[in-house]
Amino acid sequence: MIVAVMPSRATKRGSERTRLAADCDVLICGASFAGLAVARALAGSGAQVLMIDRYAIGERQTSACAVPTNWLLALDLDQALRQSFGEFVVHTPGATVRWPLPSTFSTFDYEQLCELMWRQTDLPDSAFETATVTGRSGHTVHTDRGDLRAPLIVDALGWRRVLSNTTTVSPPHAPMSRGLEVHPAGTGDAMELWIDPGYIRSGYGWSFPAADEVRVGIGSFWPSHHVKEPTVRLAADLDLPPTGYQGNWIPHQLRPAVEEGVFFVGDSAGHCLPLTAEGIRTAFYFGLACGERLQGVLAGHMSRDAALRDYAAFSAAHKRKYSLLLGLQRVIGQLTATPAITVLARALENPRVAAWVFGRYMAAAGPPPRHTLAGPPAATPMPSAATA
Ligand SMILES: Cc1cc2nc3c(=O)[nH]c(=O)nc-3n(C[C@H](O)[C@H](O)[C@H](O)COP(=O)(O)OP(=O)(O)OC[C@H]3O[C@@H](n4cnc5c(N)ncnc54)[C@H](O)[C@@H]3O)c2cc1C
Repeated sequence: MIVAVMPSRATKRGSERTRLAADCDVLICGASFAGLAVARALAGSGAQVLMIDRYAIGERQTSACAVPTNWLLALDLDQALRQSFGEFVVHTPGATVRWPLPSTFSTFDYEQLCELMWRQTDLPDSAFETATVTGRSGHTVHTDRGDLRAPLIVDALGWRRVLSNTTTVSPPHAPMSRGLEVHPAGTGDAMELWIDPGYIRSGYGWSFPAADEVRVGIGSFWPSHHVKEPTVRLAADLDLPPTGYQGNWIPHQLRPAVEEGVFFVGDSAGHCLPLTAEGIRTAFYFGLACGERLQGVLAGHMSRDAALRDYAAFSAAHKRKYSLLLGLQRVIGQLTATPAITVLARALENPRVAAWVFGRYMAAAGPPPRHTLAGPPAATPMPSAATA
């Protein structure tokens, strides 16, 4: 039973930050892609779910917000779509090439997408609270507003893995990439990538138009390499002002998806893909998989321990694909400053080569769920470690 929850979803500040204490069935910490995907999978369960985040839902954008369009469609999130692209325009020091995509990628509006996902959860507004998580003792989560307890706890808090009591993540020495981008007003008709040591020695730059703004940034595979100066320079080269900064660390190695009875999803579990730093699709994919197991527990179909074991095995079953991508990240990182990078980029101009590479890459986390409406996943078999 949830007690002492307030009915407003806006970020509470100052005197509004009243004490909060709750016992609930499921406590989801983090209300971005991973947390909302878990909550969405719980729709219709009738469980007492509490979701918390330090900001209001959709308040702080955490990425350039580009995903495979078929995921937006499968999750009924296409209202948030801003612009779709059938190819990547890729710049290397030696050439500009076009990679044809067998299926499109789209940029979306973060606030709108989060709002849509929240509505799909069917939860009342009182099931969301703004609170900053500070730690965990057993099944009690400590926040700046008080302690919250639940038998089922999800850490969807991003790269810091706040609810772990055994892992300390301390950049720039942890195995992570880093990314920074600016969001100036503007328009464009191409999704562009720069694999060019003139901008970043080991990583890439991007420009993703989203209707009325362009998301321009630099990602480095090495956490110690700085990304601000090249981000500002890339924006200047595109005649765009460096306004609206957004950046973060990006884990690029799978971490344990379960620890001391807690489910870890999205960046907290290292689910962002190495090489591309694509972490939204994977947050959806693993978030839904986690939520479906929580549904199983709530419906009495499986024990909590079985759900923890099953989810941990499902996540770990992706290790080979993640290791392969991490290996590729290291190789591409080494080749960025050599002519070989242009040869590789040109190879992907061939539609058959591009389709093969892209298909293999997409298989790292997918396919999207078959059901298009939020609700209990009765019609969809739970993805298992065997099918991963
Ligand atoms: C610059 C940049 C651009 C990117 N662009 C793309 C892209 O275009 N496409 C793509 O697929 N991926 C992209 N990524 C990667 C992607 O952003 C992440 O993999 C994805 O956001 C992970 O989702 P998540 O829900 O696990 O974590 P997050 O989106 O990081 O969400 C974590 C949530 O937890 C909350 N939180 C954190 N700490 C606390 C705390 N102590 N207490 C309470 N709440 C807390 C945060 O407010 C946030 O809402 C990009 C990353 C960066 C850095």
